[in-house]
Amino acid sequence: MVLGMRSGPVLAIDIGGTKLAAAVVDADGTCHARRRRATPVATPASVGDGARELLDAVVDLAVRSRREWERSAGAGSTPPVAVGVGCGGPMTAGGELVSPLNIAAWREFPLRRALQEAFGLPVFVDNDAKALARAEGWLGAARHERNYLAMVVSTGVGAGIVVDGRLLDGATGNAGHLGHVIVEPDGRRCACGAQGCLEAETSGTAIAAMTGRPAAMAPLELRVRAGRLVGRAVASAVSLLDLRLATVGGSVALGFGAPLFAAANAELAERSRLSFAAGARIVPVGLGDQAPLLGAAAVALHRHGTDEA
Ligand SMILES: [Zn+2]
Repeated sequence: MVLGMRSGPVLAIDIGGTKLAAAVVDADGTCHARRRRATPVATPASVGDGARELLDAVVDLAVRSRREWERSAGAGSTPPVAVGVGCGGPMTAGGELVSPLNIAAWREFPLRRALQEAFGLPVFVDNDAKALARAEGWLGAARHERNYLAMVVSTGVGAGIVVDGRLLDGATGNAGHLGHVIVEPDGRRCACGAQGCLEAETSGTAIAAMTGRPAAMAPLELRVRAGRLVGRAVASAVSLLDLRLATVGGSVALGFGAPLFAAANAELAERSRLSFAAGARIVPVGLGDQAPLLGAAAVALHRHGTDEA
């Protein structure tokens, strides 16, 4: 995936249900002044104020990152030319109105406009998992691959899908919500309202609810089960879209590690039996914990460089 190379770094922001992160990222993918903090949690009673509080936290973090970069880059360096944002979905096209399932404070929140007002720069917003797919094709484990998906198994579960070298947007920009593919028809109730979604069975939130402990403390049996269900969802996507590769990141998947990936690949091999699907693989993301910020940067570099705004 070729990115626009208009000169100058971009300010990258990742907005998740558990943490926020920001950095200044060069056009070659070098990250500077990375900062992160926990996502402020709004109580239902404070949802109105919570929306503003969360926005302020995002802006404050990004401003701190930009200042730190300015101090270290020195006078004469080109300042960030745009802002790229990865945020949990769903959202309307271009992140005009975001309603992240795992961030109760924002329902139809005008994220792109609010950040444009705060920074006075062009702002480009996309779903965080679609942003990850851009990053993985740019610098990660899906380099040289034209048909793949990149997914996150973290507080929530999501994916971005690239077919024939093109990131799929879908009718409303929400293509790739693999977390809401049904993997257990009689399974747990999902935050989306359906039952047995991959997210309802394997997200960090779901696993913590099942065990009463943080997902990081889950027993081996649950790690293997999560892998099996990830493999099941990927198998359907591989058969449907003729994909070759799924790269998987997020704190739950990377934390569960080898048992999850082994179970996922075994299930994929078991469930996708058409000859063209044989040989598809599930691997960890190539960019580790930098993936979300590089993805956010890729959203801005791609869109800013090609004037697709
Ligand atoms: Zn769901």
